[in-house]
Amino acid sequence: MAFVNENYFKLSPSYLFAEISRRVDAFKKANPQKSVVRCGIGDVTEPLPQACIEALHKAVDEMAARETFRGYGPDHGYDFLRHAIAEEYRARGMSIEDDEIFVSDGSKCDCANFLDILGTGNRILMPDPVYPVYADTNVMAGNTDVSFLDGTLENGFVPAPPKEKPADLIYLCFPNNPTGAVATREQLAAWVDYARRNNALILFDAAYEAFIRTPGIPHSIFEIPGAETCAVEMRSFSKNGGFTGLRCGFCVVPKAAMGRRKDGKAEAIHPLWSRRQSTKFNGVSYPVQRAAEAIYSAKGKAQVSGLTDFYMENARLLGSALKANGWEFIGGVDAPYLWVKCIAGKTSWDMFSYLLEQAGVVTTPGSGFGAKGEGYFRLSVFNSRANIEDVCSRFADLAKA
Ligand SMILES: *Cc1c(COP(=O)(O)O)cnc(C)c1O
Repeated sequence: MAFVNENYFKLSPSYLFAEISRRVDAFKKANPQKSVVRCGIGDVTEPLPQACIEALHKAVDEMAARETFRGYGPDHGYDFLRHAIAEEYRARGMSIEDDEIFVSDGSKCDCANFLDILGTGNRILMPDPVYPVYADTNVMAGNTDVSFLDGTLENGFVPAPPKEKPADLIYLCFPNNPTGAVATREQLAAWVDYARRNNALILFDAAYEAFIRTPGIPHSIFEIPGAETCAVEMRSFSKNGGFTGLRCGFCVVPKAAMGRRKDGKAEAIHPLWSRRQSTKFNGVSYPVQRAAEAIYSAKGKAQVSGLTDFYMENARLLGSALKANGWEFIGGVDAPYLWVKCIAGKTSWDMFSYLLEQAGVVTTPGSGFGAKGEGYFRLSVFNSRANIEDVCSRFADLAKA
């Protein structure tokens, strides 16, 4: 008998975006004359930066000649990319070494795979609402002690560490998906302090750091002194460089970051992650790593700024339209998402149907991100300018109707 992992049966059956697609398709079928604009899924829309395209082409040509062809690359990433990434951290005053960078095919996998090197019985803490991957991967791994910290308008969707409750593993994501909230230095310092007091580990998801515009907001958990002993950071080229279809990200695992054996003995996380990756991962393709390296070139940096500025201008336009029409929301300042309060009395899915039917706008129901997401919906600014302008006028028409 091949026994299956029965934890999978504990997962909620429908993945959020599959349900959205199902409902949108049904609506389109029933209303073929109505136009629909998607403001739901958090996927980029603009093409890759030119610097990345050039690097890709060049790398493909290298693969075409015997002298420059490359087979398997190093498990943890090519030195040229690990060095470029670590240099960027060092340029921002953080002492990250090249071999503390682990190149991967994206942060979703890193978030999920990290549970491989953690033991059973961890008390896990994560905010609610939250990126569904954190909770679902813990269900799959059979972790049952998962507590949620309530995000609310009052705490700006940045929950503070609990006063009494100790935890072993903490998920944080800032700028946040889905709320667009960012954590201040003081707020992150409180989490690092909490983690150190509890010998806990923070998994910090910084997929959206490139969208931070407010001066003083930390871009990395490692801007907080002491974080190198209690945190790992996941980053991705998906959102800044538009690599969602190309696939590349990385995990920063400081050598000082510690976990514990059951008897309390401290053990460095770095060798465990290194071993995990060497055994289970064969690296990211050479052309893609060259494309990622190009993001750190002067041209690449300028082009990535151009891309993120473009999306943040979308955010500004959408935010103004919402404000002008009386919607209450947060986000859209340092993140590509706006987190909007539903009309009083409507659930997130009611609101989804209402906006689809009345305005032809596809949103993401907040309840798909956790119980505390109920009563909200997420708008993504990953869209063409024309579509964003269209959505803005649809919200204006809705107000007039
Ligand atoms: C998009 C996103 C990522 C990036 O995922 P990739 O696998 O690198 O594409 C990571 N975390 C969050 C919260 C995201 O929204």
